[in-house]
Amino acid sequence: MLIGAMEAGGTKFVCAVGDENGNILQKTSFPTVSPEDTLASAKQFFSSFKMEALGVGTFGPVDLNKNSKTYGSILNTPKTKWRYYPLLEKLQSEYNIPVYLDTDVNTACLGEYYYGAGKHAESCLYMTVGTGIGAGFVGEGKVFQGKNHPEMGHMLLKQHLNDTFVGSCPSHRSCFEGLASGTAIEKRYGRKANLLTHLDEVWEIEAYYLAQGLMNIYVILSPEKMVIGGGVMKQERLYAMVREQFMKLLNDYLEVNDVDELIVPPKLDDEQAVKGAIALAVKNKR
Ligand code: ADP
Ligand code: ZN
Repeated sequence: MLIGAMEAGGTKFVCAVGDENGNILQKTSFPTVSPEDTLASAKQFFSSFKMEALGVGTFGPVDLNKNSKTYGSILNTPKTKWRYYPLLEKLQSEYNIPVYLDTDVNTACLGEYYYGAGKHAESCLYMTVGTGIGAGFVGEGKVFQGKNHPEMGHMLLKQHLNDTFVGSCPSHRSCFEGLASGTAIEKRYGRKANLLTHLDEVWEIEAYYLAQGLMNIYVILSPEKMVIGGGVMKQERLYAMVREQFMKLLNDYLEVNDVDELIVPPKLDDEQAVKGAIALAVKNKR
């Protein structure tokens, strides 16, 4: 069975075809431009395959409320050409197969849950710390959602005593994303995050925020695995620092058997979202 997968990212699209076990057979990527031109490039790639379903993980915010008239549409994004674009409807009319849609971070979570670092866990969180911060949660194979998808990157945190930065989130300033995304780091120090490797304080502050975010999620959702990826986590020492801060914040309130096994890096390199898009389609098709 051939399954199509699309990771509709804010800066690039990744399209792939794979089998029902999440093995990718062919893959391509191209920059995200206007919806029409981007979807035309996708169509060109997919046209040489006979797929049975298409799974899509998209940037957000996106309307995933099945009772909504605009279900499957992109919502109020700064990418003006995509604002209120009816993505699911367009894909359904272009491809004569079932199309399943979720957010990019939720499909990434499905990917790690089924094929990666969360493979043997009953519940798994996936958080990306990149240009923004987003997280998805899968429990017993099901993506967690309320009326719409969660926006865990916008939770409010306590500011670090040595941090006077106002925050970079246009809506909330010093929310999680506004304090700890790659964009926040860059704005706080006036330099790209990868050029700050040698400054210990940068990563101490960063680990403090990431640990707070994870602690809040842990007490709400109790994930068995918390997989943290995204460009900022290329600073690999953050993993140990975040684990230490996390345990301090938790302060023995809940038992954690082995924090090294709880907070882990992804296993699927950059393929978790497309592999998860395959899983989304396979799981819904059954
Ligand atoms: P996106 O979130 O846009 O999908 P990424 O996950 O690659 O993309 O994250 C991009 C962010 O990661 C940028 O803010 C960038 O500064 C940051 N980043 C990239 N490489 C590193 C690095 N080696 N160390 C710290 N931050 C990095
Ligand atoms: Zn915010």
